[in-house]
Amino acid sequence: MGAIFTCSIDDGHPSDMRLADLLERYGLNGTFYVPIVNREGSPVMAPAALRELAGRFEIGSHTYSHQFLTRVDATRAAQEIFWGKHALEDMLGRPVSGFCYPGGRYRRVHLRMVRAAGFAYARTTVNLCLDAGPGRYEMATSCQFYPHGRDVYMRNFASGGRWLHRRRCLAAFLRSSDWRARLYKCFEIAETHNRVFHLWAHTADLDSNNSWSEMENFLSHVSGSVKTSNRLSNRELAERYFIENMKGVL
Ligand SMILES: [Zn+2]
Repeated sequence: MGAIFTCSIDDGHPSDMRLADLLERYGLNGTFYVPIVNREGSPVMAPAALRELAGRFEIGSHTYSHQFLTRVDATRAAQEIFWGKHALEDMLGRPVSGFCYPGGRYRRVHLRMVRAAGFAYARTTVNLCLDAGPGRYEMATSCQFYPHGRDVYMRNFASGGRWLHRRRCLAAFLRSSDWRARLYKCFEIAETHNRVFHLWAHTADLDSNNSWSEMENFLSHVSGSVKTSNRLSNRELAERYFIENMKGVL
């Protein structure tokens, strides 16, 4: 029992190494989702750095070029999903079983493409969840480490479904005006009810918002209360929640 902690770090920015160091310092686990290149111009770690990171943490795919799947036709979407996986596997010299939808944008057809490409699970950008999500190709998160206003969470709540499950976190978020207080409150709810707390972040945001010390404080807080066996990569969380459906896949 006790809360489960995992985190997702998206986009493969070079500052991800700094977050990897922090996670190791506090004995925590998570998954880094990396495109091969980023069409939006944001830098992606060099292959040598990614191989080093892969020796320490799980690396998942984030398409080949950080392509929002809903903005391209089906052929292009399938190529982005397939090429992203295989280029990453060639680079790392190991299988990649996790996928994250860029921008959280996907339709049912993309979910099937991700499965057909051989991924074992996929993650969305739905927030306010305190479990692994509604299915292994739609794993969800609890909070983004970003000073979003209440309006962003209201929109995320409205579009993300499963309102009954997510209302408790939303209520906590609406009561607090400070984004850091919301983060701690949401974690407290996960602790109290022995649920999953899934943090997600872009390290480029930590750089631009100068919030590294806040991240360290939060990870230190988490480390003080989550037992070692409940500090999971995304894949380990998928295995724990969806194990019955994953036999023969992982
Ligand atoms: Zn992304």
